[in-house]
Amino acid sequence: MSKLQKEVAKRRTFAIISHPDAGKTTITEKVLLHGQKLQKAGTVKGKKSGQHAKSDWMEMEKERGISVTTSVMQFPYRESLVNLLDTPGHEDFSEDTYRTLTAVDSCLMVIDAAKGVEERTIKLMEVTRLRDTPIITFMNKLDRDIRDPLELLDEVEDVLKIMCAPITWPIGQGKNFKGVYHLLRDETIFYKTGQGHRIQEVDIIKGLDNPALDARVGSYADELREQIELVKGASHEFDLELFLEGELTPVYFGTALGNFGVDHMLDGLVDWAPTPQSRETDSGLVVSSTDERFSGFVFKIQANMDPKHRDRVAFMRIVSGRYEQGMKMKHARIGKDVRIADALTFVAGDREHVEEAWPGDIIGLHNHGTIQIGDTFTWGDEFKFTGIPNFAPELFRRIRLRDPLKQKQLLKGLVQLSEEGAVQVFRPLSSNDLIVGAVGVLQFDVVVHRLKSEYKVDAMYETVQVATARWVYCDDAKKFEEFQRKADHNLALDGGDNLAYIAPTMANLSLTQERFPDVQFRRTREV
Ligand code: GDP
Repeated sequence: MSKLQKEVAKRRTFAIISHPDAGKTTITEKVLLHGQKLQKAGTVKGKKSGQHAKSDWMEMEKERGISVTTSVMQFPYRESLVNLLDTPGHEDFSEDTYRTLTAVDSCLMVIDAAKGVEERTIKLMEVTRLRDTPIITFMNKLDRDIRDPLELLDEVEDVLKIMCAPITWPIGQGKNFKGVYHLLRDETIFYKTGQGHRIQEVDIIKGLDNPALDARVGSYADELREQIELVKGASHEFDLELFLEGELTPVYFGTALGNFGVDHMLDGLVDWAPTPQSRETDSGLVVSSTDERFSGFVFKIQANMDPKHRDRVAFMRIVSGRYEQGMKMKHARIGKDVRIADALTFVAGDREHVEEAWPGDIIGLHNHGTIQIGDTFTWGDEFKFTGIPNFAPELFRRIRLRDPLKQKQLLKGLVQLSEEGAVQVFRPLSSNDLIVGAVGVLQFDVVVHRLKSEYKVDAMYETVQVATARWVYCDDAKKFEEFQRKADHNLALDGGDNLAYIAPTMANLSLTQERFPDVQFRRTREV
């Protein structure tokens, strides 16, 4: 095996999808604890510690107790090297959250087992469907009174349309949570309270029929045996192929707070989750991760991480080859070679400066405005990786200037910010309005803030009657023309001059779709 093949085989790049408060932060801490990246669990986010709140405009986020900074966390686990890409989730939920999901090879879905499938999780699962990303499920908060585990699996299957294969099964819950039975290893693993901040010693009893189990948990043992029989009959067996196709999810039970079950899930991740995958391009070429030639794409741009340089960092997912410090690569969209001397790496272990990175890894490129979302960097050829789309915004506001003389400046700022993926802008064909569209509400504040600090434009928002936007396409030029004539009140151009339908209500969108069956209304658009 070549060095590259070895590095690829080692890597797993994933993100967490969950509804706010399901336990994403807590599980991240425990994952890092197992990855020996944190000395003590409890210091992941700027939420409480403020460790990310470095730049001045991020004061805003600090005040709100959230962090906008993407963290990429790399840590070793067993023989693997795991990259965990943070997905902003609370008020900092944004289009970046969606796009990050297009840059990973698998996802961990965390569900609050007292609540079941919640709205944000449904949305995020939809995004993972674009690439049929394999999903691992963690049912969290077993130390609380939770819902019936079988009912939870049913709900996941019904609502999210994915088959569930329980890998572990809980014994008791809440105050009586005793641990889990591992269906594949045929062993019962016991839970001890008060071990949340360190790696627990594994306390197991082999075999479901082992009398030691009865001695240990009394009547729970027989109950467990009955349940396991029932579960085996009522649920799916784990199937690697179906998992890799995104059709079946292995399910684990545990408590992130109590640090129990997280290691079982990590074992599943390194055993089954895919290594860095190949990626399609607009030229028809499919680039394999084991291709020795370097390539990667940008899925996120982060503004002003360093307040001294009004600088942006572009996050690039490496697709193939090896990155080494100072190397040259081709910026395919502008057709220029660039030398990357000082990429940020997000490195495992103690080594502070690592000068190389491999497929599946994320590097941060300093960007002074030449890099956009979706940009591809290659060994020299000019192609573009596909599958890093814009997502139809879900929130809309009209933006207005306090000083009307700066209209040009405002438009320029908005278009640039939309190229960066900070927000989307729509210019209705029938008015001089500027409508800003976002996926998360914080994006609006960030944009006004950046317009002021970077473009010296003082803007404010007004409410606007827009429920959703769809990019429109039609193969039949004549029919498209007719559509454009009849619907022109609702048409707008986005930041890249693409035509979009701006629907005042969801009902209006359905009606319009019915009226113009030949027109496609798309929720995503390739950037
Ligand atoms: P996030 O919003 O998904 O990042 O969720 P957090 O990790 O911040 O957790 C939300 C709340 O649930 C916090 O108060 C956590 O302490 C709590 N929590 C997380 N995991 C567990 C768990 O396993 N059991 C219990 N009882 N609480 C938990």
